[in-house]
Amino acid sequence: MTRTDTPEPLSGADWQYSPAPERFRPEIDAEYGLFIDGEFKEPRSGKMFDTINPATGDRLARIAEAGEDDVDAAMAAARAAAPRWAKTKGTERGKYLFRLARRLQECARELAVLETMDGGKPIKESRDVDLPLVAQHFFYHAGWADKLRWAFGGREPRPRGVCGQIIPWNFPLMMAAWKLAPALACGNTVVLKPAETTSLTALHMARLIQEIDLPPGVVNIVTGAGDTGRLVATHPAVRKVAFTGSTAVGRRIMEELAPREIPLTLELGGKSANIVFADAAIEQAVEGVVSGIWFNQGHVCCAGSRLLVEESILEPFVAALRERMAQLRVGDPLDKNTDVGAINSKAQLDRIRTLVGEGQAEGAILHDMQSTPLPEKGWWFPPCFFTGVQPSHSVAREEIFGPVLSVMSFRTPDEAVRRANATPYGLAAGVWTDKGSKVFEIARRMDAGVVWCNTYNQFDACSPFGGVKESGFGREGGLHGLRGYVR
Ligand code: NAP
Ligand code: MG
Repeated sequence: MTRTDTPEPLSGADWQYSPAPERFRPEIDAEYGLFIDGEFKEPRSGKMFDTINPATGDRLARIAEAGEDDVDAAMAAARAAAPRWAKTKGTERGKYLFRLARRLQECARELAVLETMDGGKPIKESRDVDLPLVAQHFFYHAGWADKLRWAFGGREPRPRGVCGQIIPWNFPLMMAAWKLAPALACGNTVVLKPAETTSLTALHMARLIQEIDLPPGVVNIVTGAGDTGRLVATHPAVRKVAFTGSTAVGRRIMEELAPREIPLTLELGGKSANIVFADAAIEQAVEGVVSGIWFNQGHVCCAGSRLLVEESILEPFVAALRERMAQLRVGDPLDKNTDVGAINSKAQLDRIRTLVGEGQAEGAILHDMQSTPLPEKGWWFPPCFFTGVQPSHSVAREEIFGPVLSVMSFRTPDEAVRRANATPYGLAAGVWTDKGSKVFEIARRMDAGVVWCNTYNQFDACSPFGGVKESGFGREGGLHGLRGYVR
């Protein structure tokens, strides 16, 4: 595949990249069962569903769909394993987590390719971002397992018991790591439900969990669609629920759990703002904005999907952004040069198209990569952005969860803050300026769980992540992330 992705020739960009395909192919079974009590089991429901490679539309494997009996069996296994795991010394629990972290590192290439094939994200992201962070999360929490007393001011924390954990499709293995590592470090057992479109890496991790001899029942993985998720979240055996996904489903889970006293962590949607002041380092800010919205096809809950640029530099900034966008390479996610891969599912592609159509109908101006040749099979949406966006436009308000940026301007710092906070969400924000005092002043005034200054989309296992307002509550990562998993 040789291509020029440029809509019009750009200086220095009239050359082509040679293909750089990742050649490693992991072994993929024809069928996967449910991981319950340390073994892969046929679903009692008798139901299976396909998992698809979104870059080709081809079926990769058939996966078990857990029904009520299956979730019951997983919960029973988790409950039976809970007392012994809770009594296992922290040093021993830590050893299991260290072992898993090391096996994940050893299998990183296999898992990265699998993640890219099942979910559509570029291999350079799965390889350089997802898998290193997955291992880091287990290493980090392995370190906490025998030091929990010091984490909680000398008190002896006790585990909660069985945790129901439900994760989305945008960072499949990373979300599994964010959920499993703190739960296990604190001595809980788990029933995990991966997203319907991206279960494969969690199932391959289950094999590593077998290899490291983690006691059966400590981790159980039940695959399936939304209904399986509902069964996990509302099961009577559950003592803690952690959910990452849409605000609508998060709200439903909260309603269902309202009559019971179940601690809940919700990581939901976002419509995060990147604020660029005229005194910012413009080239760096452009790179930050690009990574904020076009990383992982915009399938990022904290994507910087609203760009607020100080009016005096709006025109040159938009020109620089357009030039940078034209250099992005869209296509085969297994090509190591690809910047923007496939959209995760047909449903998500339809949603992006609908919202972009609404933006055009409302009068915003679309700047896209029209002449980019997209592969014929699979699901694709080239990076684009809107200018002429009013705060009332749907593209300024609704989470698109695709590679679509809405550009607006502001005149004063107060206006920037007001506009950035004018959303029901509050997951993240970015501030770009040369002035340290302005960084702190603006960051302090952001209604957002995470604020990045002169950078964007930086993650670390020891740094807590989570939202405010309709982006959810509770934190994952760091000391804060441990709190949800102890009594
Ligand atoms: P979603 O429907 O909320 O899915 C998240 C997880 O919850 C998946 O495992 C899903 O299973 C499961 N689920 C669905 N219905 C459930 C229910 N009633 N009870 C319990 N679990 C349930 O999100 P989505 O459909 O993947 O994406 C829709 C929107 O969610 C996106 O456009 C975006 O706005 C948002 N989103 C946010 C994040 C984030 O990190 N904050 C991540 C992904 C998506 P199935 O996959 O099998 O449906
Ligand atoms: Mg898939």
